[in-house]
Amino acid sequence: MQNAKYHLRCLECGKIIPDRYTNTCPEGHDCLLRTVYNRKRIRKLSGKGMFNYIDWLPVEEMLPVNTNPITYKSEELGKELGLENLYLSFSGYWPEKGVFMKTCTFKELEALPTLLRAKERAGEKILVVASAGNTSRAFAEVSSLTGMPVVAIVPRSCIYRMWTTTEPENHDSIFLITVDGDYSDAIATSKEIARREGLLEEGGVRNVARRDGMGVVELEAAFSMKVLPDYYFQAVGSGTGAIAAWETFIRLIDDGRFGRKMPRMVISQNLPFAPMFSAWQDGRAEIIADKDMRNAEVAIKEMYADVLSTRNPAYSIKGGVYDMLASTKPLQGLRINPYRVFGVVGAEPLHGAEPHNGKMYGITNEECKRAEKLFENTEGIDLDPAASVAVASLIKALEEGYVKKEATILLNVTGGGYKRLKKEFKMYEIEERMELKSNSLGQLPLDEIEGELKEFVRAL
Ligand SMILES: *Cc1c(COP(=O)(O)O)cnc(C)c1O
Ligand SMILES: [Zn+2]
Repeated sequence: MQNAKYHLRCLECGKIIPDRYTNTCPEGHDCLLRTVYNRKRIRKLSGKGMFNYIDWLPVEEMLPVNTNPITYKSEELGKELGLENLYLSFSGYWPEKGVFMKTCTFKELEALPTLLRAKERAGEKILVVASAGNTSRAFAEVSSLTGMPVVAIVPRSCIYRMWTTTEPENHDSIFLITVDGDYSDAIATSKEIARREGLLEEGGVRNVARRDGMGVVELEAAFSMKVLPDYYFQAVGSGTGAIAAWETFIRLIDDGRFGRKMPRMVISQNLPFAPMFSAWQDGRAEIIADKDMRNAEVAIKEMYADVLSTRNPAYSIKGGVYDMLASTKPLQGLRINPYRVFGVVGAEPLHGAEPHNGKMYGITNEECKRAEKLFENTEGIDLDPAASVAVASLIKALEEGYVKKEATILLNVTGGGYKRLKKEFKMYEIEERMELKSNSLGQLPLDEIEGELKEFVRAL
């Protein structure tokens, strides 16, 4: 362990943990683990895609990919909104800008290091991933390119998101299961299935490879902007991406070359299903289903950006979204010490990092669509619906006067370029191997699933 390039640290007990694809504290603490990298000043390599930032990725090897987000200063949208220093991070397909993510969202940044970490740390086990589609598509594409197998579980209603740009003969390493129900039903099913022999629960927000993979967005932004932004805007579903951004900003502050000021984290959800927004507005650290997720089924169906529809977001968990927003909140009436979360992370507390406001917006479908049109017309690329939520939240923050015109803003455009991709590539549907009718766990045909999976493994 002395020579390891990183280790994990529990945010509850501070214990240092060697990584054996470890997603939870061995002492049983219910909190996030965080990666601590030996290298405090990150290098940016070249020509390696996202692995340019391997210093701060929990993997040893690199995969030969050209997956990388870009950051550029907006001219047109910035002008339209009267902003002088608007920077856009774009994850998706937009070759004219030098970004080639063929699954069209920042989930691709999670899939690559996660599959690699599983291979390096968990050997022959097969990863089980649940999602509303974008995550599973990213894992499927990477699987089809590398041959690293994956079991992907998605709600039936989201199967149209399951395609790759690789031809079907490359789909042998993908075992796609659909379930009746929503994103959360897919997660519950995956937890049950992952208990089978030879399978490995991917881990979601608890998986440091997912968070640090998405942190590449902020690393790319920091190297491009040379300084941390005053404000960071992102749409959230599970909260993983925003937590990743926050953790990466903490590391970058520790690095020292990009300024010492923590950006204000401005996150957004799509109404009517916005449990974290609802709880935060109410000043609560806990999500209460009866208050924050009333009529969930109907509400989720009404969403413009239903990839943001998780019922179990990483809100209350230590090191999660509540801590993120609260630790950047002014001191009065604060439940926690703003430095608490920082304190256990790095070797030393952060000096000079003043607390700032975190903020959350609820965005209507109408606001999404208006923002999306404006973005397409000004920047010239189509958006994933979830990214339009973030664009709309920036417009709202400006209208409210929350953001000053001269502020330096980083808007994370988490997905887009589908229309652009279609001009060049064929999208091949992934065939489902199993369809689970019931979303009630007690009735899962586990024997049958086990048999099918054994067959799948044998054929690999
Ligand atoms: C998943 C997703 C999000 C939300 O990310 P979380 O980490 O789940 O909060 C935002 N935008 C796009 C395009 C996504 O696919
Ligand atoms: Zn612990």
